[in-house]
Amino acid sequence: MKLFGKVTAMAMASMMMFSLAACGGDSAPAQDAAATSGTSEAAPEEAAPAEKEEAAAPEEAAPEETEEAAPEEAAAGGGNIGVCIYKFDDAFMTTYRNALQEILEGKGYTVTFMDGKNDQAEQNNQINNFIAQGVDALIINPVMTSAADQIIATVKDAGVPTVLINREPTADQMSAYDKLVYVGCDARQSGTMQGELILDTENKGDINGDGKISYIMIQGDPENVDAQYRTEYSVKALTDAGMEVEELDLQRGDWDRNRGQEIAQNALAKFGEDIEVVFCNNDDMAIGALQAIQAAGRTVNEDIYLVGVDALDAALNEVANGNMTGTVLNDANGQAAGAVEAMEALLGGKTYAAGEQSIYVDYVKVTPDNVADFQ
Ligand code: BGC
Repeated sequence: MKLFGKVTAMAMASMMMFSLAACGGDSAPAQDAAATSGTSEAAPEEAAPAEKEEAAAPEEAAPEETEEAAPEEAAAGGGNIGVCIYKFDDAFMTTYRNALQEILEGKGYTVTFMDGKNDQAEQNNQINNFIAQGVDALIINPVMTSAADQIIATVKDAGVPTVLINREPTADQMSAYDKLVYVGCDARQSGTMQGELILDTENKGDINGDGKISYIMIQGDPENVDAQYRTEYSVKALTDAGMEVEELDLQRGDWDRNRGQEIAQNALAKFGEDIEVVFCNNDDMAIGALQAIQAAGRTVNEDIYLVGVDALDAALNEVANGNMTGTVLNDANGQAAGAVEAMEALLGGKTYAAGEQSIYVDYVKVTPDNVADFQ
């Protein structure tokens, strides 16, 4: 993938679209840690002078973001950053991780990435190890949003500036610590856009003309607000537009391509021609669903519609080829750039008030008309 181009062009564009807002989510008791450790990929480099200046906030520079900054050696000297990813084996988070690595190392930080292996106990342990090592800041993609309370208490106790990414806790949970910020997207927007992609088709998703849109929903991990909101808002967009809908099937595919394939295969065997729309909470599951659709002899955009979210390279190709109706850009590069910017603001001494701890990057609809802009 052309990461460089994307990071510099698309991230810059989306940095301008940031908005601050509080947002809801779930909260539940946290989990215990277990003793394990993961892999690390540290790559120390010199700091890029331009960025160092801004982060260190010398008197005459006066950048808006770091006005109240008390310069720290971490910001001035690059610093050690610990990054916890919920699991390395996730297509979207791989793109995101690569973008983070490129940006952080490009700015001269020493970065260590840990693979949470989809195990909250393992990730808790990794966070504790990072704290024991004295990292200057943490960037955390929680394994479970329900563990947010514990994660926040831990980093607050240690006084480590922390940016949460990809899995959003509630505004209330985040308000416990003012050196903590969430950078991500408002998942409701992506769900709505998926619905709009269907409404934009020639028959508004009602291929057989029976007056209702019959769909199957392939859901991510339902513990995650992205899965909850995409599921809800994709259908809400249809009903808000006055369409009648029929849910033939809803299954959790845990963001996974193979699960997407299995679920679509079973649903196609069971409901056959009745399925007019396949909603997938992400592209990796949509790519799996596409394999099942093609194996069943169905043709996307002729006798069935298929939409995902993320704009993974593979999905962009399928949108361009007409094998996916559309997808929604989940801007990994923009979010990575935003996470680093927020981290640098924290390192410079900025604190975030309750209710202003979520920084959102916009989603973008991707159709055959504009797909070339994203490839
Ligand atoms: C992405 C999924 C990814 C998930 C991980 C979502 O925002 O759309 O592809 O698996 O984040 O939490």
